[in-house]
Amino acid sequence: MAPDLVGQLLDAAVATIREHAAELTALDQAIGDGDHGVNMRRGFDAIAQARDELAALPLDQALQKAGMTLVMKVGGASGPLYGSLLMAMGKAGAPQDVAGIAEALGQGIEALKKRGRSDVGEKTMLDVLVPTLGALQAGAADGAATGELTAKVRAVVAEALAATAPMRATKGRASFLGERSIGHLDPGARSSALLIEAVCDVLEGGA
Ligand code: ADP
Ligand code: MG
Repeated sequence: MAPDLVGQLLDAAVATIREHAAELTALDQAIGDGDHGVNMRRGFDAIAQARDELAALPLDQALQKAGMTLVMKVGGASGPLYGSLLMAMGKAGAPQDVAGIAEALGQGIEALKKRGRSDVGEKTMLDVLVPTLGALQAGAADGAATGELTAKVRAVVAEALAATAPMRATKGRASFLGERSIGHLDPGARSSALLIEAVCDVLEGGA
């Protein structure tokens, strides 16, 4: 593990959320209450404030602390959901390899599902996170090299995000729109895609 990996991951995540906050808000204006960009920005600004403290921790502890920060700082549904994801990923322990990353993400997804009483196919962040887990599990089984794996993950994420558009939302605020939620990307699926892409950027940089 690169000595500054945690710091790099934090910086990349904060940067992409700041850069795309307006886009996340616009997506949430179409099928929600128009605050997803603001919510994510508030959470990741708080993470940025604790950057040096977090970067000094091992990855698993940093994930738990970042998750707690999101739970505390973000008012919207997405804060506790992302918080549950990151805290459970951190509790899985420091991953040593791709199988370990997949194991941690799997535990994070289970916690998110429990917290959100949600599953795949409901037009949420899970519709990007669960296919990503599948790509990681396949990559671990194949013994894929980092660059190969991140390319595969990026492709899976792009496809999974696009696939949220034709879905009808059955969880979260977008579900209030019923059929009218169809035809728009899910904002949380987009923020998950951004965060996963940021992780891929860091891993490719260090490959
Ligand atoms: P709020 O819905 O409270 O305004 P945000 O706008 O920040 O919160 O986040 C909305 C996103 O949260 C949605 O696009 C969706 O991806 C995700 N989401 C909402 N409810 C759930 C749920 N029960 N399970 C999983 N994800 C959810
Ligand atoms: Mg919202």
